[in-house]
Amino acid sequence: MKIHNKIVCLFAVFLTLMACNKSQDKKTAASDTGQISENERLQYQKWREKNAVQLDEYYQYISSKIKDAPEPYYLVYTGHSMPKKCEEFRYAIPPKADWLHLVKSLKVIEQLREQGVFKQYRIISTYRSPEMNTCVRGAKKSKHMANFAVDFKIIDQDADLEKKHKKTTQQLCEFWRKKGPKLNMGLGIYPRHIYHIDTAAFRTWGGNYKSDSSPCMQK
Ligand SMILES: [Zn+2]
Repeated sequence: MKIHNKIVCLFAVFLTLMACNKSQDKKTAASDTGQISENERLQYQKWREKNAVQLDEYYQYISSKIKDAPEPYYLVYTGHSMPKKCEEFRYAIPPKADWLHLVKSLKVIEQLREQGVFKQYRIISTYRSPEMNTCVRGAKKSKHMANFAVDFKIIDQDADLEKKHKKTTQQLCEFWRKKGPKLNMGLGIYPRHIYHIDTAAFRTWGGNYKSDSSPCMQK
């Protein structure tokens, strides 16, 4: 690998580590892609043994309201990198009062897929429990804590992913401008085809977690 490429790579890793680290989203970096590691799979199995009944109920609820509901795994998952001691909080079911919040945000994603903005995505993070938030010293107002937010990576297969990414981002911004105010839509745009969508407030941000870095604010 050439030095230049190395620098670009390091910078990309840095940016991704910073992703989702904006004020209301602190400390759990979207360094991962949501691809499940062996370690995570074992953690999940162990967690599921104790939470199967509630998880089934939660999944039933979500899939009764969403056409193409994500697998149960992704409804309770925080895939961001975190200190080892926090991993025991990686999986968590939100309080019932907050279940509908995720439905609203998943419906936005559903609309975007129906409109052909993207086809396939992989969830990196949804609900974050208070225990997890304390452990990673996250901001108390993170929309992930109220089960409003979905971090996801677009995984459409495309020969020219970068070009596609630009177009996808433009389409997302267009959607956000047009429908965002009514949907209360928050749109975070991160490197490596990673996005944050919530339905808690109309706003947007990009790489530096401020609105001015969002491609939606650039002319
Ligand atoms: Zn997020």
